[in-house]
Amino acid sequence: MPGQRYIRLFTEPPKRNCNWEKVEKDVEDALRQNVQKVQQTMGARDGQGKRESIYLGDVEASLTPRNIRDGAHLSFLETPVGIAALVLKKYPLVGNRAFVDAPWQKCRDFLLRGVEVTMEDDRNFGEDDDGCEVLYGRAGFLYALLFLRNFVCQKDGGGDGGKLDEDIKSCRELLSDATLQKVVHSIIRRGRNGAKTYRFEFGTAKSPPLIWAWHTKRYLGGAHGAAGILQMLLSCPFSIISSYMPEIVQTIDWLVCVQDRVGNWSTRAPDLNQSTSGENDLVQWCHGAPAMLILLSTILRMSVTPGVTTGMTEKQQERFVVSLQRGCAHVYMRGLLRKGVGLCHGVAGSVYALLAASGILDEASHTSSNDAPDSTTPKPPQERFAPYFTQAAHLAHQATFAGSLTGKGEMKTPDHPWSLYEGMAGMCCAWQEILYRLKHRDRSFLCSGMPGYDDLGRLVH
Ligand SMILES: [Zn+2]
Repeated sequence: MPGQRYIRLFTEPPKRNCNWEKVEKDVEDALRQNVQKVQQTMGARDGQGKRESIYLGDVEASLTPRNIRDGAHLSFLETPVGIAALVLKKYPLVGNRAFVDAPWQKCRDFLLRGVEVTMEDDRNFGEDDDGCEVLYGRAGFLYALLFLRNFVCQKDGGGDGGKLDEDIKSCRELLSDATLQKVVHSIIRRGRNGAKTYRFEFGTAKSPPLIWAWHTKRYLGGAHGAAGILQMLLSCPFSIISSYMPEIVQTIDWLVCVQDRVGNWSTRAPDLNQSTSGENDLVQWCHGAPAMLILLSTILRMSVTPGVTTGMTEKQQERFVVSLQRGCAHVYMRGLLRKGVGLCHGVAGSVYALLAASGILDEASHTSSNDAPDSTTPKPPQERFAPYFTQAAHLAHQATFAGSLTGKGEMKTPDHPWSLYEGMAGMCCAWQEILYRLKHRDRSFLCSGMPGYDDLGRLVH
């Protein structure tokens, strides 16, 4: 029963000035209280064993290169690569030379070994299409490289030819176009191979040019599937992906074609020999519509970005917009998830999906909503908030009731209730994003800001 997975929205969306004031105050209060609680749990054991990842939010990484298994276990979110990237970002770049000798070099060597392992895997490449997803694999490694690239490449070590110069130079090589190109090509190559197998298995031309598997299953969502992998490819500098754009756009078009009749996506690529619609009642970032909304918003934004030629046709663009609108309606109505408030399969993931769409769809609807006829009283400025941002803010506000919903048994407590991807830390990020946009409404946003996934536009600019 789809109704079992989400809680019906129990307040009206904010419209009037006083509604928006209440949303802002409630979100601010919830953020203040819960950030404190998240901070209190940092480093604490919760009976679940070690948590060496960004996903579950504890920092006790095993940064020895021998701990790298293969190219399929190198992600930012779920492996020590993420911790290494955070350490590399933070220390030498603020000129702390004392730090250079120990942890920083260890982290750099860890990532260098990651690149080597990816290349070794490719040399032994067979008929493989596995290990490219975001949560553990190559697309997650690509995110780590992109995350670091803009911090490291802008720094210098003083120019005196000293040790810091040398170390930063070695980092630049790690994060060079050439390295990114290798990882991107590895992902594309496996996607082409996966598509070949898919076509072979189902004997039809109605298949995408790129598709990947994870543990032999062809997932479509953000965590393990095509949406997440394509998102990371599109996050690369355009010169690196330009030659692959026809395949990327066609694959997105295929994803749009397999959207189900209610506006969601199935967890896996459909069996083309079956006539079933493959409908899915999971509407969460890891499986279902939210990651697709972020992907569609990204490609649509790229299509109006100067210097970027996506090759998307007018018809495709229209299809993508309609698909995005249908997906948004579904995510808004089913976004208050019973699984909790985290990014992966909780409310925060729904909020970021609507924020991504807001950057595209609200742009178009902004003028008409402002020009709508109204009463004789002057329109308060808060009514200028456009519909998709309003939906995102409404969901974020509903999440401020998470404590009472959990107390009543309507919302479940995740295994790691304070973590970034399962728990409250992710919701705190989403609340902060909502508050930021309430205060900076005239800014255009280059990404949704979802940490570890769709925040590179924020980091770059
Ligand atoms: Zn999940």
